[in-house]
Amino acid sequence: MIALENIHKSFADNHVLKGVSLVVPEGGVTALIGASGSGKSTLLRCVNLLEKPQSGRIRIDDASAEFSPGTQISRDAVLALRRKTGMIFQNFQLFPHLTAVENVMEGLVTVLKWPRDRARQRALELLATVGMSAKADAWPANLSGGQQQRVAIARALAPSPKVLLCDEPTSALDPQLATEVVEVLAQLARDGTTMLMATHDLRLAATIASNVVYLDAGEIVEAGPARQVFAAPMQDRTKRFISTLT
Ligand code: ADP
Ligand code: MG
Repeated sequence: MIALENIHKSFADNHVLKGVSLVVPEGGVTALIGASGSGKSTLLRCVNLLEKPQSGRIRIDDASAEFSPGTQISRDAVLALRRKTGMIFQNFQLFPHLTAVENVMEGLVTVLKWPRDRARQRALELLATVGMSAKADAWPANLSGGQQQRVAIARALAPSPKVLLCDEPTSALDPQLATEVVEVLAQLARDGTTMLMATHDLRLAATIASNVVYLDAGEIVEAGPARQVFAAPMQDRTKRFISTLT
């Protein structure tokens, strides 16, 4: 589904991703774990090209792009890859001037040029799947963090992306509000949504991840089935890191 090959990303002389290769299988949840600063967010941002890698190859479904220093990839290739992904963020990032349902409609109307009534209908269906029907006309400022994140999940899913990228989706939330978000993500996982998820939340990772990738200082130390990586990590570095998770 997603294949990353030898991705390098630097910010000035800070070499953040040092040749990351990774496969995210279709219909599974891949948890990306690693200490703060290890490059998890940068990797997610490279997948949807919010950041451009200096080199490497990205393939998602039938879209792909190869990066190398000095060559520019076409805007069409960028858009084709970007449309394969939806992303949710630690701090939700809803549009504050739009209601919940308008947030979910926004991309459908402005990017995909859907008629408003069709977009509204799809948005209301998605709000139902995240348990937010009753708050469709609420403003983000009047929603709890857990409710905002559920709206953000509906918004990310609106254009039917091939993969949902999640950057620490529960880490800004109190445990109780995190639970409602974990439950929504777990249901999406059961329904076969492909996800790549950076998280410090061991409960979230252990609940829904089928695969785990451990990133340390921009390099993948270990990757494998979640049960195996959590219960019997092969690398000492992984063992040490997992023992720090709560
Ligand atoms: P993580 O999500 O694992 O905490 P990040 O990907 O956010 O790690 O950061 C990895 C490194 O990349 C850090 O050293 C961070 O300072 C640097 N970095 C991330 N984004 C930028 C940026 N836009 N400009 C400069 N440096 C950045
Ligand atoms: Mg991060």
